[in-house]
Amino acid sequence: MNTTLPIAVIGAGPVGLAAAAHLIQRGETPLVFEAGNEIAAGVRSWGHVRLFSPWRWCLDKAAVALLEAHGWQTPDLEHLPTGHELIDDYLLPLAQLPALRTQIHLGARVIAVSRRRTDKLKDAGRADAPFVVQVEIDGHTERFTVRAVIDAAGTWATPNPIGADGLAAPGEADNAAHIAYGIPDVLGAARGRYAGKRVAVIGAGHSAINAILDLAELYNSAPQTHITWVLRKANVAATYGGGENDQLPARGELGLRIQRLVEAGAIEVVAPFFTTAIERVDAKLRLVGETPQGDRSLLVDEVIGATGARPDLSFVREVRLDLDAGVEAPRALAPLIDPNLHSCGTVRPHGEKELRQPDAGYYIVGMKSYGRAPTFLMATGYEQVRSIVAALVGDWESAAEVQLELPETGVCTVSAAFDGSGLGIGSACCAPPAKDAPAVAVELLPFTMLSTPATVESDSCCGVTSCCTEDAPVAADACCTSANKAEVIALEGTAKAGSCCG
Ligand SMILES: Cc1cc2nc3c(=O)[nH]c(=O)nc-3n(C[C@H](O)[C@H](O)[C@H](O)COP(=O)(O)OP(=O)(O)OC[C@H]3O[C@@H](n4cnc5c(N)ncnc54)[C@H](O)[C@@H]3O)c2cc1C
Repeated sequence: MNTTLPIAVIGAGPVGLAAAAHLIQRGETPLVFEAGNEIAAGVRSWGHVRLFSPWRWCLDKAAVALLEAHGWQTPDLEHLPTGHELIDDYLLPLAQLPALRTQIHLGARVIAVSRRRTDKLKDAGRADAPFVVQVEIDGHTERFTVRAVIDAAGTWATPNPIGADGLAAPGEADNAAHIAYGIPDVLGAARGRYAGKRVAVIGAGHSAINAILDLAELYNSAPQTHITWVLRKANVAATYGGGENDQLPARGELGLRIQRLVEAGAIEVVAPFFTTAIERVDAKLRLVGETPQGDRSLLVDEVIGATGARPDLSFVREVRLDLDAGVEAPRALAPLIDPNLHSCGTVRPHGEKELRQPDAGYYIVGMKSYGRAPTFLMATGYEQVRSIVAALVGDWESAAEVQLELPETGVCTVSAAFDGSGLGIGSACCAPPAKDAPAVAVELLPFTMLSTPATVESDSCCGVTSCCTEDAPVAADACCTSANKAEVIALEGTAKAGSCCG
């Protein structure tokens, strides 16, 4: 193949830009395509969120070397940047360096990749055929010929739907005006939309936790705000993470803070709940779902879907890829990160060898390399692209010498009973086992704010012990009829004796 051709990088997020820096350092010509109108458009959309990694884990070595050569000052390595700071203090200065800025195409969405004169079926001459990258720029399509492709397109722009089976729930698209995905800026630009409203946050990962913590802060200035946390998993405690054992204290603190809110009854927990439909009822949304007690629904004003994300594989239809059937990550990487198997959040060092695809020269890196798995860290992506670029220039020794040291989460669960929605539950291998969830966490919590912490007793429902003594219509259940009860309505069936709240 013609080795003077440029190398395409899809996505100008932290990992795509790091790839470009490594290529420049190795004397190669990157061509970076970014769908957004600015670099790191994905990060910008959650720019208000403070990272749990301090700067020391957010900087790529090749990028820093290029920046320092132009007088850039390293930020305080212990400071936790926000997404906005990550862009403004690091990624933007990097993208503006003379060697990079002419190589980055903004508003350039890659819509297809193939090999020149070689469709997916054809074997002959395949390995020597350069790649053709089709890009939509300013409303027209351009084609670029490159010798390799580093696909760092992330997953943030393709969130999982809210439907519990991985499909959009009926009504999800029709009610899009009241559904946000990810972590809306509820304390900033989106304040008016959420202040004083009943908000359901669906999901079990860091995004859901971040959204809830922001809503809890919003509650302080808008006390009518009501937060319901809807999870597929029964054990809310499995979302808390490693707490004080986490080597990234800010990540551990997220879990500790949400645990305190749950245990104080400041947020209503509805778990397990498998969303099956979203309906409009006057000005409200009715979230319908399956629970162990039958179909239930809850009425809210706004829904935040934080159910993870999935890779956009639409533009790689013509590329020969070998991805794990479930995780949608490169096959060799998938078992290292598969949340069905473990949830360490740490991954053993891996690089070009694990990421190479049947179509030699195409690499999926960064957040997208994790497919649907949730535990990606930037430092992992930086090491991936260092190793890949070394291989692309023929430095196989450096490519094979993969070094990756990641901060441990403090929750390392192996062969966990994974319920498909985030961290698994099971035996801990690097931290004390997660405490059993308070029994109330699998039912509904009354909505009481921090000033009046709820006493959570085992076998209790809604904070009251032994409230249901005989089969009764759920709607008539005394323990669930207080003024501030969760507005969960039985769609059918009756409550079983001893199973308060239905
Ligand atoms: C809220 C949040 C907090 C996080 N906190 C941390 C943390 O503290 N520490 C940590 O290590 N990691 C953290 N992560 C995880 C991860 O490091 C980040 O998601 C990081 O941004 C991933 O970088 P990336 O370059 O792989 O992908 P992205 O940042 O998602 O960048 C991908 C880019 O590709 C572009 N793109 C997408 N499709 C196309 C296309 N077809 N054509 C052209 N361009 C395209 C997008 O616009 C985007 O700019 C966090 C993630 C989130 C969501």
